[in-house]
Amino acid sequence: MPEGHIAHFKVLEQTPHLLGSQLRLSSPNRRFETGAALLDASTVTSLQAYGKHIFYNFDARRVLHVHLGMDGSFAYHRNGNHNGRARSGAWLRVASPTLAFDLRNPKVCELIDATRRDRIIAALGPDPILVDTPPRGLAAIRDVSRPVGEALVDQSVIAGVGNVYRAEILYACAIHPERQAATLSDDDLANIWSGAVRMLRAGVADGGRIRTVERRRDLKVRDSRTYYVYGQRFCARCGSLIRRWTLGAQLAYACETCQPLAV
Ligand SMILES: [Zn+2]
Repeated sequence: MPEGHIAHFKVLEQTPHLLGSQLRLSSPNRRFETGAALLDASTVTSLQAYGKHIFYNFDARRVLHVHLGMDGSFAYHRNGNHNGRARSGAWLRVASPTLAFDLRNPKVCELIDATRRDRIIAALGPDPILVDTPPRGLAAIRDVSRPVGEALVDQSVIAGVGNVYRAEILYACAIHPERQAATLSDDDLANIWSGAVRMLRAGVADGGRIRTVERRRDLKVRDSRTYYVYGQRFCARCGSLIRRWTLGAQLAYACETCQPLAV
C-alpha cells in the first residue's frame, strides 16, 4: 500500500528523466483524455512530493496532481518505449526520451493550477520526509479526543503515514494504538516524530520498500520478518501474540506486552 515514502521515491526516480524534456502524454483508458491533451508536448519544470501526493509542475496554470490511493502504481516500460501495450487501468501514459510509464488505477489524477496545489499542501500536516525537528503544530494532536492510532493516519496531522508505518512507529515508541492522543507527553510526541522521520526516510532510501526491522542492530529478531508487528503473529522481542483489530478504517497491530495500554 503506497505511503508517503513511495511518493517521494517516485519523484526522485522520475525527475532526472522528465525534467526539461518535452513530454508526450496520453490517456490509454481515456479517463484523463482532456487533461493529457492539455499537457501533451509540454515541459515539466519541477516534480514535488508532499505526504502521499505528487505534483508535476508545468506552469502556474497547469499542475498534474497524482495520488496513488490504495491501488495506484506506476508501470515502467523498458527503454523508454512509449509505444508499448497499455497496462490495464492505465489512466495516463507519460513518455520522455528516456522513460515511459503508465499510471495505473490512481485515486487522483487531475489537472489543477498552482493555487489549488498550494491549498492541498496547506491542508496537510507536516511531512517527516521534509521536516527534521518535531513541528510545533504537532502538539495539536492532543486537542482531539481520539486514539493516537487514528490521529497518526490523519493526513492533516502528519502527512505520509499510512497503516504499515502507523503500526511500526507506535511499536518502536512502545505506545499502544488505542491510547488517547490527549495523554501523550512531549517526549512521546518527539519519539513519534523521530520514528516517522527515520522510517519514512529509510523507505525512500530503500527504493520505496518498507523494512523497519534493523537486523544488524536488533539481535532479538531471528526470523526473516521485515516488520515488527504489521501482519505478524508473534512479537520478535517478547514472544507475545500480536493483537490485530480494526481501528478507524484499517487493521491495527500491537504487542500489548511491549506496548501496554495503561502507563
Ligand atoms: Zn512484545
